[in-house]
Amino acid sequence: MNPIFAGLPTTVFETMSQLARQHEAINLGQGFPDDPGPRDVREKAAQAVLDGWNQYPPMMGVPELRQAAADHYRHWQGLDLDPGEVMVTSGATEAIAGALLALIAPGDEVVLFQPLYDAYLPLVERAGGVPRLARLTPPHWRLTEEVLASAFTPNTRVVLFNNPHNPTGRVFDREELELLAAFCRRSGAVLIADEVWEHVVFDGRRHVSVLSLPGLRERSVKIASAGKIFGMTGWKVGMVCAAPELMKGLSKAHQFLTFTTPPALQHAVAYGLGKEPAWFEEMRAGLQRSRDRLAEGLAGIGLTPLPSAGTYFLNVDLAALDPRLDDEAFCRDMVERHRVAAIPVSAFYAREAVRSVARFCFAKTDATLDAAIERLARLR
Ligand code: GLN
Repeated sequence: MNPIFAGLPTTVFETMSQLARQHEAINLGQGFPDDPGPRDVREKAAQAVLDGWNQYPPMMGVPELRQAAADHYRHWQGLDLDPGEVMVTSGATEAIAGALLALIAPGDEVVLFQPLYDAYLPLVERAGGVPRLARLTPPHWRLTEEVLASAFTPNTRVVLFNNPHNPTGRVFDREELELLAAFCRRSGAVLIADEVWEHVVFDGRRHVSVLSLPGLRERSVKIASAGKIFGMTGWKVGMVCAAPELMKGLSKAHQFLTFTTPPALQHAVAYGLGKEPAWFEEMRAGLQRSRDRLAEGLAGIGLTPLPSAGTYFLNVDLAALDPRLDDEAFCRDMVERHRVAAIPVSAFYAREAVRSVARFCFAKTDATLDAAIERLARLR
């Protein structure tokens, strides 16, 4: 027996979190907040469990959540979605796997962007896709005509895109998105957009969904995550938005992957999506303050932060400290000797990795961030 996935390494997030536990390190690696999440949303979940929402809900999701998602995206992103165009999944990762299984026929070319979230490539390959890797380059990580032209061909069938972008913290602007839209229209490709960080954008930015771009409404799949929206990453409640023709296939993948998602959590998310706009603004403002606090702390000890416009992540350019530093060795040393965990960004590459960037999660309390900086001060 030779299981096909056996050769894959354990995901870097799990590896670093394990190392962090082992060394009693402050974990700024895997992206999760140390805040417990909005109390009212958690109370709704608890109440829903007690009220008896514990049997299989409808496969596509509870109607209240599908309606709440349509309303939420009308308000926040100007999208005109029918609740029938929303499907609930067990996390965005299921949604991504399902979309790839549903949309890729063996031999289809799939465009991906490096650095890329580590789940993408194995799933694309397992679905039979032929990956075409475009490359974003630090410090600006811009999506240009040249970058897109290097990966798109007339045979491009699927594009897997992430905005706001993990690990770079890039929020692609409208000009870049329109360029991507033009390439998708030209090749006739379906665009799968992982938009899980849609609410985590800073400095007054507003998320632009691919579903709002000209010509993409009918050919795109938007993937969202309640875990990221409410900072409760263990909830694993994802949402997929797509036009009915696409949804037909996506729902068939979902029915044989997880079929449904815990209904009590769905009810709580439905409630949460309707929270007053001020809650979302405050969540962003709080994270922005944390980003700035960590950036300042890191800069103070000689680690140069790259810009972060969204996500929970701030990257550090190690080359500015010492051009010989390797991100993996640096992160290993940091967790073992200084007891702070971060993620080496080379883990987000399939080939020709940039090896001089480390990713830090700032979705933490001030005390946690300050303690991490204090430990790292000895790096100097
Ligand atoms: N999305 C999280 C991150 O980038 C990791 C999720 C996971 O551990 N699989 O840190």
